[in-house]
Amino acid sequence: VRIVRAPAAVGKLTASWQARGERVGFVPTMGALHAAHLSLVRRAAAECGKVLVSVFVNPMQFGPKEDFSRYPRPFREDAALCRRAGVDALYHPHPRSMYPPGFDTAVDVGRLSRPLCGKQRPGHFRGVATVVLKLLLQVQPDRLYLGEKDFQQLAVVRRMARDLDLPVRVVGCPTKREPDGLAISSRNVYLTPGQRGAAPDLHKALVEGKRLAESGTPPPQVVARVRRRLSSVPDARLEYIELVDASTLESPNPRSRSLRLLGALWFGRTRLIDNVPVKVG
Ligand code: AMP
Repeated sequence: VRIVRAPAAVGKLTASWQARGERVGFVPTMGALHAAHLSLVRRAAAECGKVLVSVFVNPMQFGPKEDFSRYPRPFREDAALCRRAGVDALYHPHPRSMYPPGFDTAVDVGRLSRPLCGKQRPGHFRGVATVVLKLLLQVQPDRLYLGEKDFQQLAVVRRMARDLDLPVRVVGCPTKREPDGLAISSRNVYLTPGQRGAAPDLHKALVEGKRLAESGTPPPQVVARVRRRLSSVPDARLEYIELVDASTLESPNPRSRSLRLLGALWFGRTRLIDNVPVKVG
């Protein structure tokens, strides 16, 4: 796998592929690669002649009290995984080249950034949108592969791509899970064995809520049931459970057919998120 560090070099590489008629699929990540990242890589490889993965722990999307400094950075293992997965190039920019002194621009995707995760993480989606736009301008891929596990992030990036006429197709990929239902995440390594045992309860409660909603239980009761169930998970603290319209991320209206049930749950200093689709009507 070819490792590229300079922003100016990555665009030259993808342009040379595109000049030969290859479609370029791009999978941006923060590294600590796992089976879910590899499922995005496989999807990209199935649809594109060339696959480029980026590994960049983006300081701009972490709050001052969040886990930026302790976020795992096993770069050698990441490179080995990419090599085995047949990734064509791995882009690993320096923080200094992404955010040189004096950097002072941000992309703010309005309403979609504010509810859900945006409430507890002010500035998070500005950091995400800004880095994704920078990466897209540097890489200039044909397709961008993102996971539904970060459902609000996917919505924010789709909105940005549409609003700013970005010449890229955004492809959302289904959430990959452990056999017990826990959504795979680089942050799962922080969990103690006890917390790891309880962590699948988040997905179980969301699935139970989905069933209730799809069989006609009104949204406020669904949310109350899921919250109540999660309030008794040992060692856990609930941040939010919300049932929203899947396209606006706001309270569903009577015409909403495609909903999303989303939640965030803390175990100690570790924050887990998950979501499931809900079809009504
Ligand atoms: P991250 O490295 O956590 O920023 O994730 C990089 C990409 O992988 C994002 O598009 C995530 O949504 C996606 N991703 C992470 N975990 C999962 C998962 N369990 N299933 C599907 N996609 C995922």
